[in-house]
Amino acid sequence: MERIEEKLAILADAAKYDVSCSSSGSRRRNNGGIGDASRSGICHTYTEDGRCVSLLKILLTNHCIYDCAFCVSRRSNDVRRAAFTVGEVIDLTMNFYRRNYIEGLFLSSGIFKSADFTMERLLLIVKKLRLEERYHGYIHLKTIPGASEELIKEAGLYADRMSINLELPTEAGLKMVAPEKDHESVKKPLALIQNQISTYKAEKKIIKQVPSFVPAGQSTQLVVGATPKTDFEIMQVANTFYQDYKLKRVYYSGYIPINDSHSLLPQIGSAPPLLRENRLYQTDWLLRFYGFKLEELLDPAHQQLDLTVDPKLSWALRNPQFFPVDINRANLKEIIRVPGIGRQSAMKIIHARKFGRLYAYQLQKMGLAFNRAKHFISYADAPFILGAPSMETIKQAILSESTSKYASKVHTHQLTLF
Ligand code: SF4
Repeated sequence: MERIEEKLAILADAAKYDVSCSSSGSRRRNNGGIGDASRSGICHTYTEDGRCVSLLKILLTNHCIYDCAFCVSRRSNDVRRAAFTVGEVIDLTMNFYRRNYIEGLFLSSGIFKSADFTMERLLLIVKKLRLEERYHGYIHLKTIPGASEELIKEAGLYADRMSINLELPTEAGLKMVAPEKDHESVKKPLALIQNQISTYKAEKKIIKQVPSFVPAGQSTQLVVGATPKTDFEIMQVANTFYQDYKLKRVYYSGYIPINDSHSLLPQIGSAPPLLRENRLYQTDWLLRFYGFKLEELLDPAHQQLDLTVDPKLSWALRNPQFFPVDINRANLKEIIRVPGIGRQSAMKIIHARKFGRLYAYQLQKMGLAFNRAKHFISYADAPFILGAPSMETIKQAILSESTSKYASKVHTHQLTLF
């Protein structure tokens, strides 16, 4: 039992660097009470309908024949190694599931012996879970680069989601830090799985009994900040992958410095680029749900996202000709481009204005960030301002308001504490 706990500690810790399912990253420790948020192993992800599910997130093994410089499990790294047996992963999953600790499994692995040897074991685990244990919980399974088509095709019948990490946005960058890998070994399985998903979906429309194939779709992960690639180059790759492989998500993982001997990688001590990672997620969201084109947010002449403001605000500040947007006349596409107005608030505006022109006091009750949006909209009682303020003045006003809001939050929090 102790050995299993030891393996769990090693292999859950090694799995935390893969962000292709979301996890909290909390550092709060247990000082004698109940629970321990800093323990790795359980993470969370979101289902299609927005439900948050907890996952057992582990590697089958952290032994690896590859030597990717950005990875803690790389061959040359001096870390404690461990490997679960097929039976151990099944027992852990079933025991945790029965005790209600988890609602799903995220299973990845280092490559030991060969890609097929590893993929065969991953397949065996998901197959036994589904067929022998009658386990119906969520399974996110990693595709092992280089594994044979037959194994991937079979695994897709038992997994809900599959993912394979592209890691670096360019082939040249990947070759420098992960010499045994190439983009082809990622693109091939992505294309294969996408093809299978479409085929199974089409057949299911005719014959109900046809099983589902990777019903929750595919995702990939890009490491950000390991090599000097720009936000434009990263988002170009993500955009292409969304289009070519119909991915459900691209995850952006800020590089965590773990290798002080590689000349190309940022050194230990430099912090992971979390704000940049966040800006990339915001850009990704704007591309997928807000109707923005990549060229509007980033282009060859403007390759990095502004870290001081979010990408929607940054776009608005660079495009004053689109504003003010008349809240009482504009269509949904125009309204969702206003900084401070999300899709839900925009829908509420469209619905509410059927009953009459909208005034400031009504907009303030609709869940939008009115103090931000007011600089970019006109509404029934919008004040007349002689000589519109420059976009730079608006930016400073928004920034100073965000800072004072943050300061007052901290102040209120301190008052509550003491
Ligand atoms: S193949 Fe995967 S586990 Fe192995 S070193 Fe590369 S990134 Fe790490």
